[in-house]
Amino acid sequence: MNENPNIHMLALQNEILEAIATGMEFDAVAGLLCRRAEGLAPTAICSILSVDIEGRLHPVAAPSLPKHYSDALEGLAIGPSVGSCGTAAYFGKPIEVVDISIDPLWAPFTGLALPLGLMACWSTPIKAREGRVVATFAFYYRTKRGPSDLERLIVQTCVNLCGIALAQMEIQKKNHQLAFYDQLTDLPNRRCFDELITRKPRAGPTSFGLILLDIDHLKFINDTMGHMVGDALIKEVASRLRNAKLDLACRLGGDEFAIVVDPCPDHAALSLVVSALRNAMKEPFHSDGNTIVPQVTTGGVVYGIDGTNADLLRQNADFALYHAKETNRGGYIQFEPGLRTAITCRIEMIREVDQALADKRVVAYYQPLVRLDTGEIIGLEALARIKTTDGRIVAAGDFQAALSDREVACRLTDSILSQIANDVRSWIANGIPFQHVGINLSAADFRRNDLETRLSKTFDAANVSLKHVVLEVTETVLMGDPGNDTVRAIERLREKGMLVALDDFGTGYASLTHLLSFPVDIIKIDKSFVDRMLIDRPSEVIVEALIDIARKLDKKIIAEGIECSAQHERLRELGCTFGQGFHFARPADALTTTRLLRSFAQKLPFEPDQRRQTERNFPTTAIA
Ligand code: C2E
Ligand code: CA
Ligand code: CA
Repeated sequence: MNENPNIHMLALQNEILEAIATGMEFDAVAGLLCRRAEGLAPTAICSILSVDIEGRLHPVAAPSLPKHYSDALEGLAIGPSVGSCGTAAYFGKPIEVVDISIDPLWAPFTGLALPLGLMACWSTPIKAREGRVVATFAFYYRTKRGPSDLERLIVQTCVNLCGIALAQMEIQKKNHQLAFYDQLTDLPNRRCFDELITRKPRAGPTSFGLILLDIDHLKFINDTMGHMVGDALIKEVASRLRNAKLDLACRLGGDEFAIVVDPCPDHAALSLVVSALRNAMKEPFHSDGNTIVPQVTTGGVVYGIDGTNADLLRQNADFALYHAKETNRGGYIQFEPGLRTAITCRIEMIREVDQALADKRVVAYYQPLVRLDTGEIIGLEALARIKTTDGRIVAAGDFQAALSDREVACRLTDSILSQIANDVRSWIANGIPFQHVGINLSAADFRRNDLETRLSKTFDAANVSLKHVVLEVTETVLMGDPGNDTVRAIERLREKGMLVALDDFGTGYASLTHLLSFPVDIIKIDKSFVDRMLIDRPSEVIVEALIDIARKLDKKIIAEGIECSAQHERLRELGCTFGQGFHFARPADALTTTRLLRSFAQKLPFEPDQRRQTERNFPTTAIA
C-alpha cells in the first residue's frame, strides 16, 4: 500500500458507516468489514466472534476460514487460556500470540489451527459502552509474527466500526422490543399480533385457531387491592400462558390477550386448548398479601370455519368474547353466526331508545317503597318506560341493554331527572305527603363527571330540594371504575344531602367488605334472594344476616321484588323494615302515583322544612 493509509481507512470507514446507516444486519456488516480488512492487509486472515452475556463465543464472520473451524469455536466459554480470542475476551485486552505451535494459550487448539497453516493470531476485544466485552476482532497469520503498524491501524479502525455496528444493533433490538413487545409481560403486543394474523392466512392451507382472552374483574382488583396487584395478575396470567406452552400468546392491551393456535382443524380442537388454558389458571397466586385465583373469559374462532380473512376472523373472535363477557363470565364461547344477530339486536335497541328520547316518548313511572309493618308508602323508585308509537308501554328491563351506550344512558337520565323534578314539585305544591324518590343511575352517568351539576340544575330549576333524592347505584357501577372516581363522586353527592342506595345487592361481586367500604346509606336486597328465600334455606340465612349487619352498620335495608304475602310476612319476621314489589304496587305513571300517595303515603306531622321531615321518616324514624 503506497498511498497514505489514512485515505484507505477513511474509505473503509465511510463504506461501513453507510452500511450501518442503511440498516444492514450486524452479521453482514461484520462480513464486509472482514473482507475489506483482508483487502487492506493481504497476508492477514480476519475473524469476528461475538461474546454473549454468559461469556460464550459465537462466530459472526470469518470469510477466509473454513466453516468447520468456525463451527468448532461455537459456544466455547472464554477463559484465561482459550486461544487468542477467548483469552482477549476474558481479560478485556488484546492478546498477541506469535507462535501458536508453542504458546500455552493455544495448547488445546493447535490441532485445529496448525493444519490450516494458521501460525499466529492477534485478537482485540470490542467493548460495549458499559465496558463489557461483546466481541473480538482477530487477525491470523500464516507466518510466526506479530502485527505491523499498518495492521494495527486497520484493526483499530475495524474495532471502532464494530463497536458502532454493535451499538446500533442494540438500539435496533431495543426499538424492536419496544415496538413489538409488551413491556409488562414481554409477550408480543397488539402490533405484533396484527402483523402476524394479517400474514397468517396466506401462509398455507392448514387451519389455525384464535382465542381472545379477557381477565375478569381486573378493574375490581385494581380498585380494591391496588394497581401493583393488578399488574401482578396480568403478569401471572401472561406467564401461565407462556408456561402452558399452548401456542403463541400476545397481550393486546389492558386485560386482553390473544392466543394463536396452529394448527387447529376445528372447534373441538380449539376447545381442548381452551380447557388446558383454563386448567392453567386454576391455582391461586399471592401478591402483596392477597390470594388471587385468576379468572378468564374466552371466545374463539377457527380459520376457514369462521372466516378466511384476518379482519373477519378478529371481528368474529371479538363477537364471541364480547358475548361470553355478557352472558358467560369466566366461561368460553365459540363463535357462531347467531352471535352477530344478538349483538345487532342491542344496536337496534340503542337506536330505538335514541328515537324514543328524541320523540319524548320516555316517561318516568314510579313504584312505591313501603313500610312492611304498616304498609305505608315511605318513598318511590322512578323507573323509565318507553311509550311505543302504537301506545304500548315498554319496561326498562326490556331496553336496559341499550344503556350500555353512554350517550343514550346519559340522555335517558337527563330526561327522567327533569320529569322527576317536575312531578315532585307538583306533589309538594299540592300538599301530597312525599318523602323520597330513588333514581337509577348507569355507569355512564359517572363517566362525564358532571352528575352533581346535572342534578343541581334540574332540581333547582324545579325548586325542589335534593334531599328528596336517593341515588340507586349497583355494585357494577361502583366497581367498574378503576380510578375510584365514582366512589368519590358519590361521597360528594352524599355531602349535598342526597342518600345513596346500593341496588341489586347480591348479584354482583357482593362481599361484606364492600358493604363496609361503599359510601351508601341503603342496601336493596335483590329480588333473586327474596324469590328463593322461602324455598332455599341459605338464601333466607343470607337475608337474615344482611338485615342484622345493616342494622349494626346503621344502614337501611329494602327488600326488592316482594310478590306475595308469604314473602312479606317472612321478611317482617326477619326484621326487614322496608320493601318494594308487585305485592304492594306495580310501577305506575305520575297520575296513578299521585292517587296512591294521597291514600297510602305515611302521614307526617306538618313540618315546613322538608329536610327535617325527610330525616325523621326515612330512613331514621321508621327503623328506630
Ligand atoms: P331495578 O333498579 O332493580 O328496578 C326494579 C325492577 O324490578 C323494575 O323493572 C321493576 O319494575 C321490577 N319489579 C319491581 N317489583 C317487582 C316484582 O315484585 N316482581 C317482578 N318480577 N319485578 C318487579 P324495570 O322497570 O323493568 O327496570 C329494570 C331495570 O332497569 C332496573 O332494575 C334498573 O336497573 C333499570 N332502570 C329502570 N329505570 C331506569 C332509569 O331511569 N335509569 C337507569 N339508568 N336504569 C333504569
Ligand atoms: Ca333500582
Ligand atoms: Ca334492584
